[in-house]
Parts: sequence; C-alpha cells; structure tokens
Amino acid sequence: MIKLDRRNFIKGAGAGGASCALATMLPGTLAALESAPLKGVGKEVASICEMCSTRCPISARVVNGKNVFITGNKAAKPFGGKVCARGGAGHSLLYDPQRIVSPLKRVGERGEGKWAEISWDEAYQTIAKKLNEIKRDHGAESVAFSSKSGSLSGHLFHLGKAFGSPNHFTHASTCPGGYVVAAKAMFGTKVKRDLGNSKYIINFGHNLYEGINMSETRAMMDAQMEKGTKLVVFEPRFSIVADKADEWFAIKPGTDVSVALALCHVLIEDGLYDKEFIERYVEGFDEFAKEVKAYTPEWAAAISDVPAADIRRIAHEYASHAPHAVVDFGHRATFTTEEFDMRRALFAANVLIGNIERKGGLYLGKKAKTYNKFAGETVAPILGKPGVEGMPKPTAKRIDQVDEQYAMMWSSGGIYQTILDATLEAKPYQLKAWVMSRTNPMQTMTDRARVVETLKKLDLVVCCDVYISETAAYADIILPESTYLERDEEIADKSGKNPAYYVRQRVVETIGQTKPSWQIFKELGEQMGLGQFFPWQSMETLQMLQLNRDTSELRRIKEQGYVSYGKPLMLREPEMVSAFAQTYSNAKPVDEDGTYGSQLKFKTPSGKIELSSKKVEGMAPGRGVIKYREVDLKQDDELYFIQGKVAIHTNGATHNVPMLANLMSDNAIWVHPLTAGKLGISAGDAIRITSSVGSEEGTALVTPGIRQDTVFAYMGFGSKNKELVRATGKGVHCGNLLPHKTAPVCGMNIHTTGVKLAKI
Ligand code: SF4
Repeated sequence: MIKLDRRNFIKGAGAGGASCALATMLPGTLAALESAPLKGVGKEVASICEMCSTRCPISARVVNGKNVFITGNKAAKPFGGKVCARGGAGHSLLYDPQRIVSPLKRVGERGEGKWAEISWDEAYQTIAKKLNEIKRDHGAESVAFSSKSGSLSGHLFHLGKAFGSPNHFTHASTCPGGYVVAAKAMFGTKVKRDLGNSKYIINFGHNLYEGINMSETRAMMDAQMEKGTKLVVFEPRFSIVADKADEWFAIKPGTDVSVALALCHVLIEDGLYDKEFIERYVEGFDEFAKEVKAYTPEWAAAISDVPAADIRRIAHEYASHAPHAVVDFGHRATFTTEEFDMRRALFAANVLIGNIERKGGLYLGKKAKTYNKFAGETVAPILGKPGVEGMPKPTAKRIDQVDEQYAMMWSSGGIYQTILDATLEAKPYQLKAWVMSRTNPMQTMTDRARVVETLKKLDLVVCCDVYISETAAYADIILPESTYLERDEEIADKSGKNPAYYVRQRVVETIGQTKPSWQIFKELGEQMGLGQFFPWQSMETLQMLQLNRDTSELRRIKEQGYVSYGKPLMLREPEMVSAFAQTYSNAKPVDEDGTYGSQLKFKTPSGKIELSSKKVEGMAPGRGVIKYREVDLKQDDELYFIQGKVAIHTNGATHNVPMLANLMSDNAIWVHPLTAGKLGISAGDAIRITSSVGSEEGTALVTPGIRQDTVFAYMGFGSKNKELVRATGKGVHCGNLLPHKTAPVCGMNIHTTGVKLAKI
C-alpha cells in the first residue's frame, strides 16, 4: 500500500498534480505587468474566480490599478484559501493582448477569419433587427440561447425568455448532466459529497486532482494525508487521481456499471447493507435486490477485468467504514449510453450503506430557507429574485424535451447537442439562430464537423466572449465581454451543509469597450423592444433587491467576499444536530435518537429515495429498475478512445491564456507500449488517430499507464481557428473524433468511441 505524506503527495506524477497545490506560487505571476516599477500599498479585492465553473472565492491584489496576484479568499474556509493554476492565471487572461475589446462583425465567409470593428450600437441594431425578423417569420422558438452556467446564463436566458424562446442550454449534457439527472430520479434533488470526512472513498475516474474543484480536491487531499482515508480508483488509465490512490484498477472502458452493481450485489447478499435505513428511507429495494442477484463479482470480473476477489474485498472494506464512506458519483469517467444507470448504480452503493446525511457520505444542500426552518429563526437572509411581470410564456415545446424520457433534464441545462439536430434536420423543428455566451461547443460537443455545418447553416450566429473562441470564429457578430476581474455580479449562493453567500466584484477598471454580460443583454433587450423586462439600472440595484435592501449585509458580503451563516448541519449526525439545537432556542425538536432523521424527506413521488422508479419506468419503459446493458463503444479492430481534463486548462476555454499556454500547449496520445510495439510506434512519433467521424494528427506518449486496448488524450486542445494563435493546431482535437450520440434518459453527449492508430 502506498503511504502518503504531504511531501510525496504534491510531488505528483506530472505537472497537473504539482500545480494543484503550488499554483499561487508559480513563477511569472507578475509577467502581466508593464515595466513600470510597482509603488504604493496594494489593495485586496474579494471576488469569485471564473477560470472554471467551480467559482472559488478569491482575493485579488491590485497595485497601481493593476491586478498583480490572485489567491484564495482566506474567509472561505472550505476552499482552503487557495486557487489552482488556472485561478492563479486570471490576470494573464485580463491583460492578454489577444483578448477582444471591441464588438466585431464578420466581413468574410463564416470561419474565414475576416473581421471589422463596429460600435455597440451597430452590433445591437444588427442583432435585434435579425432576431425580430426571425421571430416574425419562424417563431421565437427558432432561436437557441446557450451560455456558460452562473450569472451569465441567468442574464442571457432572461433575454431568451423575454424574447419568447423555450430553448436555453448550458453545457450540462456534455459534463454534469448524467449524475444530476440520476440524483433527481433517485433523491428528487442534487446531492453533495462529504469527501473531507470520508474514511473510505471509491472512485470511478472522477479525476479531482486534474479536473480540479478546489473545495472537493482539497477535502479529498486532506482526508488522504491527514486522516488516512483509503482511496480506491477504477479507471482505464493511470491518471493523477489513480497515482494518489491506495489501489488502482485499470477497468475496461464503459464497464464501470458492472463493478458498481457487483459492489451492490455483495453489500446485499453478504448482509452488509443498512437494513434500518433501507426500511425507513428507501422505495424499490426489493426490485433492485432481485435485479442485482445475478450481478456477482465473478460476472463483473469477466466484463470489466477487475478481479472478483478484489470487488468482494473492497465491498467488505467499504461497508466496514459505513456510514463514513462514499462511492464518488462524479463525472468524467468513460461516458457511454448507460450513463444514467451507471450513475444510479453508484448512488445505490451509497444508499445501501445508509451514508445519507452522515459525515463522510452524501448530503443535501442546506440553503437559507431550509436552514432557517430548522433553526426557527432567520439565521441567513433568503435571497430575493427580481420579479418581472408579464414575461411571455412560450407556446412551443423545447427542442430537447419533446421526448418524454428526457423530461428530468432541468430546463436551464438542457440537452445541448439537440441544437445540431434541430438546425440540420429540423428535428423536432427548424432552428434559425444561435445566441451564445461564453460557450465553445466546437470543443465541448462531439462531432466537430457537424458543429461547423450547423453554424454555417444558421441565419444568425452571435457570440459573447472574451476571445474569438473556436466557435466565435464562426459568428456573425462577436460581443466582447469584460473578464470576471472587470465585472460586478449578483450575490451567489454557495450553501453546503449551512448557508453561504459570496459575490463577484470588479477588481480593476474595464479595459477597452468591453461590458459585463448583464449590461450587454439588458441593452440588447432594449434594442429588441423588450426593455420592460429589464427594469434594473445597475448591478447594485439587483444586489439590493436580492437582500431586501439590507445595505449593511450587502456591505459585509462585499467586504468579506464570502459569508457563511450558522454551523454545518447533517440531519442524521447526532453531534451536529445537538450543537445546532443548542445554538438556536427555537430549533425544531430533536428526535429521540438525537438526530433530525424524521425530518429527512425526498422530493420524489414516494417521498423516499427511489432505488427503482415507477416515474422513470413511465418515461422510459424498461428503465425503472437499474440494470446492466452491454454497450457498443468500438469495433473489434479498434482501440477505445477516452478523454479527460487536465489541471492546467478548463475544457476548451483557457488554452490561449498566455501563462497556461506556456505551462501546457499540447496534448499527446497515450498508448500502451505493447500496443505501440505492434503498430511500430515509438515514443514521440507523429501518429494519426482516426475514428468513424474524424481524423487527427498527434504525438505518441508511450506509457504503461494505460490499458493495451485504450488510448487517451486531454481534451480542449487542437483548436482549428487561426485567431487563437497560442492554441491553434497544437495537439489532438478530441471533439473531432467523437461521434454525435446521446444517452437515454439523462441526454448525455457520449465521449467515448473506437479509433485506429497509425504511424505517419
Ligand atoms: S478550481 Fe481553480 S479555476 Fe476553478 S474556480 Fe477554483 S481556482 Fe478558479
């Protein structure tokens, strides 16, 4: 077994591992400054990072009007007061000479790279005229709106709703959609992991040491280093999370569900499950138990290549730490058409040991409304929403939810890739325009050629972005957004076990003609004749509305940047419940067993956790009970192609940021030495990788850290538009290799396929 201490932990297996802990100390952080020497006392501004969607609280240092350093906000304890490499590189984006600072109009063919600067007035007038014509001729539903999640999506989707379109999308179906929809089916809501208090973690390729999320990454790191938590990883390659594990199993791609179901089989058949918990909180156990009877470790071993004895042993070890143990349900393992049942099987392994609302297990978020109800008083203010009267109700159905089986996908997430079907095949009806804010489907969706075809076919493409991204390169109009270091935004909810709020604040003056997205979409709305739906004049007005005009609370949140209210609460954890009840004199009475177990309810049709679901059965016949189904990911003569995140970059968004491009500008194709030998490939050779939809050239990284039947590449590289000069043509473009396929029920865009390799 590998012994971990702080020193050998951060030594890591590569750049990604080290960057996680050391990012804020990277040399070159001051490189963004001009040559003038720094003078004066620095000012620290509390704000929120936007280098990925995690949105960590940050503290940004400003000297002589320039942002020179970014670190974590020390007041935000769950985040450890740190940022990752990407978070530390925010000013490299802010001062990048290649970011766009003026509205642009396409003057050549789409994607040709010919642009002219225009005024904001001309940009708004052009877009408004065209969108209103499309609405008149084809209906508001023929326009799709897609956005990065967070405050940006709120403002763009508000415009979309005011316009009358039901079609709004984030990147949900290309990233977290599978486990969110599975959680909704089983628990009726999202659930969170308490990794920091877990004593035993089973992980199916949720690569938190590369796909970094500061609070969870640090929690898991601390649990491993300080508390001796055991980590078992099932993943086809030796990723950094596998490197940091006590045990790593090179599972066959796409077979995770078989191992998860075999773990459930052992928990049930060997009587290791929490019977009392199941009786009290679970619906559909008998159907599930009947189904998993056949899913023995021996059966799973034949499918997954994970030895049966290990599956059995791990199930016993896991149960012996119950309820302070967890099976991480997180995303970005292999994606297959069985994504929905894979995530449900992972949740089921948690439910069986009764770790819900227990330390080290899973828990439900406690926002102000819930927390105040338990406390019997107002511990945290409840954030108000600006009400706008008379918003139109779309008459058309969404393009992605005409099929009943997808009805569990939340509407502001949506099944993003259906934009391609609606545009190219009028399925279920014809789309005519696409308005985007900070999304780059050319990298995050599959089948890049089809995305290009879609963008070329539309009557209008608008992109609001900080760079001419690979997708923005095909826009008619590009609207330059201020970076997050130049923007104020609404107060955001960051509640976990107790309520917490934080706020993004402008750190430096806006550069060029850029504007924050809330202002862009308000002004565009006014130009489109929808001004009555945007009554607020400033971000401050919106913040005041949120806090019911409590100026002192607003000042406090702005000064501290992150404010947490009350104490952490898990309803079935006696110590926490006792501390909570002693703090609030009007708190709900505690149960006889010292918990709030009687208050634990789920928003499912039965009010319980649904291990088997009649609702899902009704939506997608045959899928009510969690089952194993064989998946078809590749032909016999092909290799599995899997992709994943790297700690230095975020999806397709940061590859042109100077500091990050300097750290890593290229991806290589991981190939096992035996596979490489058979194909005559040596380390560093130029190779061609070909799938059913595309072909890419790259460099071979020959390593035993991957299965013989699998190849891997980090995602987001290989941009093909010339505007992103630091990223263009560097590495393999994963989206160009992946076919356009959607998983049942959860609507996930599948990110695993078959490929062939050849030396060039
Ligand atoms: S994980 Fe890193 S990039 Fe993402 S929000 Fe946090 S600090 Fe920023």
